[in-house]
Amino acid sequence: MPPEELHGNRKSAAAGPGRADFAPTRSMQVKNGIDVIELIAVMAGAKPAMMVTVEKSFMPSLEAIAGNYGLHCLFEGQEDRSSKGPIIPRNDVRLFMGTDLGELEKLRRDKAKGDNEGVGKSLGYPDCCVQSLLNCIANRNDKESYIREAAERSSSFPLYTNNIFNFSSRLQKRDETQYRELFRKNKNANFIRHLGNMMNMHLISHMPCSYDCKESCRMGRRVLRAVREADGMMAYEIEKTLAHPVLFMGKFRFAVFDGAADRRCITYRSVMPPNSLLERKLLRSIKEGDSIEVENGELRIYRENRHIGGVKEAADILPFGRPGA
Ligand SMILES: [Zn+2]
Repeated sequence: MPPEELHGNRKSAAAGPGRADFAPTRSMQVKNGIDVIELIAVMAGAKPAMMVTVEKSFMPSLEAIAGNYGLHCLFEGQEDRSSKGPIIPRNDVRLFMGTDLGELEKLRRDKAKGDNEGVGKSLGYPDCCVQSLLNCIANRNDKESYIREAAERSSSFPLYTNNIFNFSSRLQKRDETQYRELFRKNKNANFIRHLGNMMNMHLISHMPCSYDCKESCRMGRRVLRAVREADGMMAYEIEKTLAHPVLFMGKFRFAVFDGAADRRCITYRSVMPPNSLLERKLLRSIKEGDSIEVENGELRIYRENRHIGGVKEAADILPFGRPGA
């Protein structure tokens, strides 16, 4: 069965993007299920379109939002084609929102065809990142190892490209339970008050070819400026989290540190939010320590230079921070 077109919105773009009287707010995420950062990115002209999965019930309010900002929006019904497909619960639809209706229709067609190159281009992803992702798919690498490969290609880790907490390009059907658990674990975290929810913890939504990819950094910087204008507290929370080193052990297993790091070692004062699904025992041990080291497929935890624990498992340190810091 071909994907069902549920609704289209033909709207005069006379107002132009970003001309509405009010800025997007974090409450839009909670009320309408929309990724607010992506909306701000489109309105700021940092990218031409966005594509997210939303609840069907939000469709009317999303059309109203698009109208308010002089944007177009299209929806598409979802089919759950395979266990490898993205998470698309039956009550959800895919939302395409952008500045140009013709381009948006092309994006929807490309997505239905599975034309990843076309989709990446229409969403404004840098060519280098689209090509790199196509290679990754062709090599049948999973998207977790893609993060490790991108890290190996990076000589610096500016906060602008830290997309470790954005799962939109990485979710697979089998992840659904863990994804919900991650949201639940961060529901009462302090940063959520200023952020809406976990979904907004990013500046770019694509997987960069490397974390120092020039085009991706430029996009992230531009989006951060726009978020600052829209909601200073939201920008503050995002910037604060993204500018810290991450220990990456899997899609849902990570830790963020208040400390200094290189690719091999983190020296830290504390573990910061967001919470992940890292095993409780391992997390406790990390919290008791003040530095960790990763080498030869092993993670070692130290306190005052004394080895206090760890695990024999490959782990990656992604030393995100402010550029020039
Ligand atoms: Zn790139």
